[in-house]
Amino acid sequence: MTWTTQRLRIGISSCLLGEPVRFNGGHARDRSLLELLGPYVEWVPVCPEVGAGMGIPREAVRLVGDVHAPRLVGATTGQDWTEAMRIWTEAQLEHLALLDLDGYIFKSRSPTCGLFRVKVYDHNGIPHKEGRGLFAEALVRRFPLLPVEEEGRLQDSLLRENFIDRLFAYHRLRQFLQENPSPQTLVRFHTAHKLTLMSHSPKHLKSLGQLVAKAGNAPWEELLESYAQQFMSAMNVMATRKKHANVLFHLAGYLRDYLLPEDRAELHTLIEDYRQGLVPLITPIVLLRHHFRRFPVHPWIRTQVYLEPYPKELRLRNT
Ligand code: SF4
Repeated sequence: MTWTTQRLRIGISSCLLGEPVRFNGGHARDRSLLELLGPYVEWVPVCPEVGAGMGIPREAVRLVGDVHAPRLVGATTGQDWTEAMRIWTEAQLEHLALLDLDGYIFKSRSPTCGLFRVKVYDHNGIPHKEGRGLFAEALVRRFPLLPVEEEGRLQDSLLRENFIDRLFAYHRLRQFLQENPSPQTLVRFHTAHKLTLMSHSPKHLKSLGQLVAKAGNAPWEELLESYAQQFMSAMNVMATRKKHANVLFHLAGYLRDYLLPEDRAELHTLIEDYRQGLVPLITPIVLLRHHFRRFPVHPWIRTQVYLEPYPKELRLRNT
Protein backbone atom coordinates (compact mmCIF):
# COMPACT_ATOMS: atom_id res chain seq x y z
CA MET A 1 0.00 0.00 0.00
CA THR A 2 1.54 3.31 -1.04
CA TRP A 3 0.26 6.72 -2.00
CA THR A 4 -2.88 7.03 -4.03
CA THR A 5 -2.90 8.01 -7.70
CA GLN A 6 -6.07 10.02 -7.13
CA ARG A 7 -5.80 13.75 -6.55
CA LEU A 8 -6.37 14.92 -3.01
CA ARG A 9 -9.29 17.31 -2.54
CA ILE A 10 -8.29 20.15 -0.26
CA GLY A 11 -10.33 23.12 0.94
CA ILE A 12 -8.43 26.41 0.96
CA SER A 13 -9.01 30.06 1.78
CA SER A 14 -9.76 31.54 -1.66
CA CYS A 15 -7.31 34.43 -1.29
CA LEU A 16 -4.41 31.94 -1.03
CA LEU A 17 -5.23 30.74 -4.53
CA GLY A 18 -4.89 34.30 -5.82
CA GLU A 19 -8.59 35.17 -5.95
CA PRO A 20 -9.07 38.93 -5.31
CA VAL A 21 -11.46 38.47 -2.39
CA ARG A 22 -9.71 40.24 0.48
CA PHE A 23 -11.34 43.23 2.17
CA ASN A 24 -9.27 45.62 0.01
CA GLY A 25 -9.85 43.71 -3.24
CA GLY A 26 -6.40 42.11 -3.09
CA HIS A 27 -5.31 38.51 -2.71
CA ALA A 28 -2.68 36.55 -0.77
CA ARG A 29 -1.56 34.04 -3.41
CA ASP A 30 0.88 31.54 -1.93
CA ARG A 31 3.01 30.56 -4.89
CA SER A 32 5.29 28.07 -3.15
CA LEU A 33 2.35 26.19 -1.67
CA LEU A 34 0.50 26.07 -4.99
CA GLU A 35 3.61 24.92 -6.88
CA LEU A 36 4.36 22.21 -4.32
CA LEU A 37 0.89 20.71 -3.95
CA GLY A 38 -0.84 21.88 -7.14
CA PRO A 39 -0.09 18.78 -9.28
CA TYR A 40 -1.59 16.44 -6.68
CA VAL A 41 -4.53 18.48 -5.48
CA GLU A 42 -7.99 19.56 -6.53
CA TRP A 43 -8.53 22.82 -4.65
CA VAL A 44 -11.89 23.75 -3.17
CA PRO A 45 -11.69 27.53 -2.62
CA VAL A 46 -13.85 29.12 0.06
CA CYS A 47 -14.07 32.78 1.11
CA PRO A 48 -16.38 32.96 4.12
CA GLU A 49 -16.52 36.77 4.25
CA VAL A 50 -17.67 37.01 0.64
CA GLY A 51 -19.95 34.01 1.22
CA ALA A 52 -21.59 35.71 4.18
CA GLY A 53 -22.41 38.71 1.98
CA MET A 54 -19.79 41.25 3.01
CA GLY A 55 -18.86 42.21 -0.57
CA ILE A 56 -15.54 43.33 -2.15
CA PRO A 57 -14.11 45.74 -1.15
CA ARG A 58 -15.48 45.81 2.39
CA GLU A 59 -14.74 47.14 5.80
CA ALA A 60 -12.07 45.10 7.61
CA VAL A 61 -13.50 42.98 10.41
CA ARG A 62 -12.11 41.74 13.71
CA LEU A 63 -13.01 39.51 16.62
CA VAL A 64 -14.11 41.15 19.87
CA GLY A 65 -15.23 40.07 23.34
CA ASP A 66 -14.86 36.63 24.92
CA VAL A 67 -11.92 34.68 23.44
CA HIS A 68 -14.04 31.50 23.55
CA ALA A 69 -17.13 33.03 21.95
CA PRO A 70 -16.04 36.19 20.14
CA ARG A 71 -18.19 38.32 17.85
CA LEU A 72 -17.16 39.31 14.33
CA VAL A 73 -17.56 43.06 13.86
CA GLY A 74 -16.53 45.83 11.48
CA ALA A 75 -13.23 47.35 12.67
CA THR A 76 -14.55 50.93 12.30
CA THR A 77 -18.35 50.83 12.32
CA GLY A 78 -18.75 47.93 14.74
CA GLN A 79 -21.33 46.35 12.39
CA ASP A 80 -21.97 42.87 13.75
CA TRP A 81 -21.53 40.04 11.19
CA THR A 82 -21.56 37.17 13.68
CA GLU A 83 -25.05 35.88 12.91
CA ALA A 84 -24.70 36.24 9.14
CA MET A 85 -21.43 34.30 9.32
CA ARG A 86 -22.98 31.60 11.50
CA ILE A 87 -25.91 31.03 9.12
CA TRP A 88 -23.71 30.95 6.01
CA THR A 89 -21.13 28.68 7.71
CA GLU A 90 -23.79 26.15 8.67
CA ALA A 91 -24.91 25.80 5.05
CA GLN A 92 -21.35 25.80 3.72
CA LEU A 93 -20.28 22.99 6.05
CA GLU A 94 -23.20 20.88 4.79
CA HIS A 95 -21.93 21.46 1.26
CA LEU A 96 -18.31 20.63 2.19
CA ALA A 97 -19.44 17.42 3.91
CA LEU A 98 -20.62 16.17 0.51
CA LEU A 99 -17.23 16.86 -1.07
CA ASP A 100 -15.21 14.43 1.09
CA LEU A 101 -12.28 16.76 1.67
CA ASP A 102 -8.84 15.33 2.44
CA GLY A 103 -7.67 18.45 4.26
CA TYR A 104 -7.96 22.21 4.60
CA ILE A 105 -5.45 25.08 4.42
CA PHE A 106 -6.43 28.35 6.10
CA LYS A 107 -5.16 31.89 5.72
CA SER A 108 -3.37 32.81 8.94
CA ARG A 109 -4.33 35.71 11.22
CA SER A 110 -7.76 36.21 9.63
CA PRO A 111 -10.70 36.73 12.06
CA THR A 112 -12.63 34.35 9.84
CA CYS A 113 -10.08 31.84 8.50
CA GLY A 114 -7.20 32.01 10.99
CA LEU A 115 -6.55 28.75 12.82
CA PHE A 116 -4.08 29.74 15.53
CA ARG A 117 -3.36 32.82 17.62
CA VAL A 118 -5.93 35.08 16.00
CA LYS A 119 -6.36 38.45 17.73
CA VAL A 120 -9.47 38.90 19.85
CA TYR A 121 -9.95 42.47 21.13
CA ASP A 122 -11.21 42.84 24.69
CA HIS A 123 -13.60 45.55 25.90
CA ASN A 124 -10.69 47.95 26.31
CA GLY A 125 -9.61 47.40 22.71
CA ILE A 126 -6.56 45.36 23.73
CA PRO A 127 -5.82 42.39 21.40
CA HIS A 128 -5.15 38.91 22.79
CA LYS A 129 -3.62 36.42 20.34
CA GLU A 130 -5.59 33.47 21.62
CA GLY A 131 -8.52 33.20 19.21
CA ARG A 132 -9.51 31.27 16.13
CA GLY A 133 -11.39 32.56 13.07
CA LEU A 134 -15.13 31.89 13.24
CA PHE A 135 -15.24 29.75 10.09
CA ALA A 136 -12.06 27.84 11.01
CA GLU A 137 -13.47 27.06 14.46
CA ALA A 138 -16.76 25.77 13.03
CA LEU A 139 -15.00 23.64 10.41
CA VAL A 140 -12.64 22.03 12.91
CA ARG A 141 -15.58 21.19 15.18
CA ARG A 142 -17.60 19.70 12.33
CA PHE A 143 -14.72 17.64 10.86
CA PRO A 144 -12.51 16.79 13.86
CA LEU A 145 -10.36 14.22 12.00
CA LEU A 146 -9.68 16.41 8.96
CA PRO A 147 -6.02 17.51 8.63
CA VAL A 148 -5.93 21.32 8.83
CA GLU A 149 -3.11 23.86 8.69
CA GLU A 150 -2.31 27.50 8.06
CA GLU A 151 -0.31 28.62 5.03
CA GLY A 152 2.31 30.46 7.12
CA ARG A 153 3.20 27.39 9.17
CA LEU A 154 3.66 25.37 5.99
CA GLN A 155 6.86 27.34 5.29
CA ASP A 156 8.44 25.27 8.07
CA SER A 157 9.74 22.05 6.54
CA LEU A 158 8.93 19.87 9.57
CA LEU A 159 5.35 21.17 9.86
CA ARG A 160 4.91 20.90 6.08
CA GLU A 161 6.09 17.31 5.96
CA ASN A 162 3.90 16.34 8.90
CA PHE A 163 0.85 18.01 7.38
CA ILE A 164 1.32 16.30 4.02
CA ASP A 165 1.88 12.99 5.79
CA ARG A 166 -1.47 13.54 7.53
CA LEU A 167 -3.22 14.47 4.26
CA PHE A 168 -2.20 11.25 2.53
CA ALA A 169 -2.84 9.16 5.65
CA TYR A 170 -6.34 10.57 6.02
CA HIS A 171 -7.01 9.96 2.32
CA ARG A 172 -5.98 6.30 2.68
CA LEU A 173 -8.00 5.95 5.88
CA ARG A 174 -11.15 7.26 4.19
CA GLN A 175 -10.58 4.99 1.18
CA PHE A 176 -10.24 2.03 3.52
CA LEU A 177 -13.40 2.99 5.44
CA GLN A 178 -15.41 3.44 2.23
CA GLU A 179 -14.49 0.01 0.86
CA ASN A 180 -16.69 -2.09 3.12
CA PRO A 181 -14.00 -2.75 5.75
CA SER A 182 -13.73 -6.12 7.49
CA PRO A 183 -11.53 -7.32 10.38
CA GLN A 184 -9.15 -8.74 7.77
CA THR A 185 -8.79 -5.48 5.83
CA LEU A 186 -8.42 -3.56 9.10
CA VAL A 187 -5.48 -5.81 10.02
CA ARG A 188 -4.01 -5.19 6.56
CA PHE A 189 -4.46 -1.41 6.80
CA HIS A 190 -3.00 -1.27 10.29
CA THR A 191 -0.07 -3.51 9.38
CA ALA A 192 0.81 -1.32 6.39
CA HIS A 193 0.91 1.75 8.64
CA LYS A 194 2.89 0.30 11.55
CA LEU A 195 6.14 2.10 10.79
CA THR A 196 4.35 5.31 9.85
CA LEU A 197 2.57 5.24 13.21
CA MET A 198 5.83 4.41 14.96
CA SER A 199 7.43 7.51 13.42
CA HIS A 200 4.61 9.67 14.81
CA SER A 201 3.57 8.07 18.09
CA PRO A 202 4.75 4.68 19.43
CA LYS A 203 2.18 5.10 22.22
CA HIS A 204 -0.72 5.26 19.74
CA LEU A 205 0.78 2.38 17.75
CA LYS A 206 0.50 0.21 20.84
CA SER A 207 -3.09 1.18 21.69
CA LEU A 208 -4.18 0.84 18.04
CA GLY A 209 -2.64 -2.64 17.97
CA GLN A 210 -4.70 -3.58 21.03
CA LEU A 211 -7.82 -2.26 19.33
CA VAL A 212 -7.15 -4.22 16.14
CA ALA A 213 -6.65 -7.38 18.22
CA LYS A 214 -10.31 -7.05 19.31
CA ALA A 215 -11.62 -6.91 15.73
CA GLY A 216 -14.25 -9.59 15.29
CA ASN A 217 -14.97 -9.75 19.06
CA ALA A 218 -16.22 -6.21 19.70
CA PRO A 219 -19.02 -4.05 18.21
CA TRP A 220 -17.64 -3.43 14.71
CA GLU A 221 -18.87 0.12 13.98
CA GLU A 222 -17.69 1.42 17.36
CA LEU A 223 -14.34 -0.24 16.94
CA LEU A 224 -13.87 1.27 13.48
CA GLU A 225 -14.82 4.73 14.73
CA SER A 226 -12.42 4.45 17.61
CA TYR A 227 -9.67 3.19 15.27
CA ALA A 228 -10.16 6.15 12.89
CA GLN A 229 -10.04 8.65 15.77
CA GLN A 230 -6.93 7.18 17.33
CA PHE A 231 -5.24 6.75 13.96
CA MET A 232 -5.61 10.44 13.14
CA SER A 233 -4.65 11.43 16.71
CA ALA A 234 -1.43 9.48 16.16
CA MET A 235 -0.82 11.26 12.86
CA ASN A 236 -1.32 14.60 14.64
CA VAL A 237 1.69 13.86 16.83
CA MET A 238 4.77 15.32 15.17
CA ALA A 239 7.16 12.81 13.57
CA THR A 240 10.62 13.86 14.76
CA ARG A 241 14.16 13.08 13.69
CA LYS A 242 14.62 10.90 16.78
CA LYS A 243 11.48 8.85 16.10
CA HIS A 244 12.39 8.48 12.42
CA ALA A 245 15.85 7.26 13.42
CA ASN A 246 14.27 4.62 15.66
CA VAL A 247 12.15 3.43 12.73
CA LEU A 248 15.20 3.32 10.47
CA PHE A 249 17.21 1.25 12.98
CA HIS A 250 14.19 -1.03 13.32
CA LEU A 251 14.16 -1.49 9.53
CA ALA A 252 17.92 -2.04 9.46
CA GLY A 253 17.37 -4.94 11.88
CA TYR A 254 15.61 -6.87 9.11
CA LEU A 255 18.84 -6.81 7.09
CA ARG A 256 21.05 -8.13 9.86
CA ASP A 257 21.42 -11.61 8.35
CA TYR A 258 21.99 -10.39 4.80
CA LEU A 259 24.47 -7.51 4.94
CA LEU A 260 28.24 -7.77 5.04
CA PRO A 261 29.74 -6.09 8.12
CA GLU A 262 30.94 -3.11 6.06
CA ASP A 263 27.49 -2.62 4.48
CA ARG A 264 25.88 -2.87 7.89
CA ALA A 265 28.31 -0.28 9.24
CA GLU A 266 27.60 2.03 6.29
CA LEU A 267 23.86 1.83 6.91
CA HIS A 268 24.21 2.47 10.64
CA THR A 269 26.49 5.44 10.01
CA LEU A 270 23.97 6.95 7.59
CA ILE A 271 21.12 6.55 10.08
CA GLU A 272 23.28 8.10 12.78
CA ASP A 273 24.16 10.95 10.38
CA TYR A 274 20.45 11.48 9.79
CA ARG A 275 19.76 11.49 13.53
CA GLN A 276 22.37 14.21 13.96
CA GLY A 277 20.93 16.31 11.11
CA LEU A 278 23.87 15.75 8.73
CA VAL A 279 21.88 14.11 5.91
CA PRO A 280 18.18 14.22 4.98
CA LEU A 281 15.76 11.38 5.75
CA ILE A 282 15.65 10.28 2.13
CA THR A 283 19.35 9.26 2.22
CA PRO A 284 19.09 6.27 4.61
CA ILE A 285 15.67 5.39 3.16
CA VAL A 286 17.10 5.08 -0.37
CA LEU A 287 19.85 2.79 0.92
CA LEU A 288 17.33 0.70 2.86
CA ARG A 289 15.09 0.36 -0.20
CA HIS A 290 18.13 -0.66 -2.24
CA HIS A 291 18.98 -3.46 0.23
CA PHE A 292 15.34 -4.56 0.52
CA ARG A 293 15.28 -5.04 -3.28
CA ARG A 294 18.46 -7.14 -3.20
CA PHE A 295 17.56 -9.54 -0.41
CA PRO A 296 14.58 -11.78 0.32
CA VAL A 297 13.57 -9.86 3.45
CA HIS A 298 10.24 -10.50 5.16
CA PRO A 299 7.37 -9.55 2.79
CA TRP A 300 5.94 -7.36 5.61
CA ILE A 301 8.60 -4.80 4.73
CA ARG A 302 7.22 -4.30 1.24
CA THR A 303 3.75 -3.48 2.58
CA GLN A 304 5.01 -0.53 4.63
CA VAL A 305 3.58 2.82 3.57
CA TYR A 306 6.46 4.42 5.47
CA LEU A 307 8.90 3.60 2.67
CA GLU A 308 6.87 5.59 0.12
CA PRO A 309 4.06 7.59 1.77
CA TYR A 310 3.56 10.17 -0.98
CA PRO A 311 4.81 11.00 -4.51
CA LYS A 312 8.59 11.36 -4.49
CA GLU A 313 8.26 14.52 -6.59
CA LEU A 314 7.10 16.32 -3.43
CA ARG A 315 10.73 15.98 -2.28
CA LEU A 316 9.61 16.28 1.32
CA ARG A 317 12.19 14.00 2.81
CA ASN A 318 15.01 15.77 1.01
CA THR A 319 15.36 18.65 3.45
S1 SF4 B 1 -8.76 35.11 4.75
FE1 SF4 B 1 -10.64 34.00 4.40
S2 SF4 B 1 -12.24 35.52 4.59
FE2 SF4 B 1 -10.34 36.63 4.33
S3 SF4 B 1 -10.19 36.98 2.14
FE3 SF4 B 1 -9.09 35.11 2.55
S4 SF4 B 1 -10.62 33.55 2.20
FE4 SF4 B 1 -11.75 35.44 2.42
